[in-house]
Amino acid sequence: MTSQESEASRVGQVLAQLSSSGHRITNPRRHIVTALVQAGGHLTAEEVATAVQRRDPSVHLATVYRTLDALERAGVIIHIHLGHGRAIYHLADSSHYHLYCQQCGSVREIPQSEVDDLFALIGRAYDFEPSLGHFAIIGTCGRCIDRRGSKGNRSRGTSPESIA
Ligand SMILES: [Zn+2]
Ligand SMILES: [Zn+2]
Ligand SMILES: [Zn+2]
Repeated sequence: MTSQESEASRVGQVLAQLSSSGHRITNPRRHIVTALVQAGGHLTAEEVATAVQRRDPSVHLATVYRTLDALERAGVIIHIHLGHGRAIYHLADSSHYHLYCQQCGSVREIPQSEVDDLFALIGRAYDFEPSLGHFAIIGTCGRCIDRRGSKGNRSRGTSPESIA
């Protein structure tokens, strides 16, 4: 299967899910799902709007935002918050958590299964069921830590010289 075929089949799956739950497949809905599948990950509402208008300039911005809301209520897309307010969208059929670097803005995904143990631990220790999916875990990525380190102000770990 070429990547174009697999993109088309994923779009088809999401649209099938939508119509099987009683929702109509409108052009803006199809364009938004296609944009998210082609991006292979996350898009802000603005990026979705740009991608949709590239395919079909007649779709108004307000329609894009309304359609994002409708698709989210229908359960096929999810938004999450990266930092102060900026939200990104991804397809609901991929469940993962997000690591957001507040220095460079990069987003990395962690499979949900890798965080399950940590959540179970918090649950047992504090009798609390954490729900972190709506927000990214915010921090600094390895590249930015290295860049910071090379500027002479290292804060990661202890260098051998400082032990000696
Ligand atoms: Zn939200
Ligand atoms: Zn995501
Ligand atoms: Zn970074």
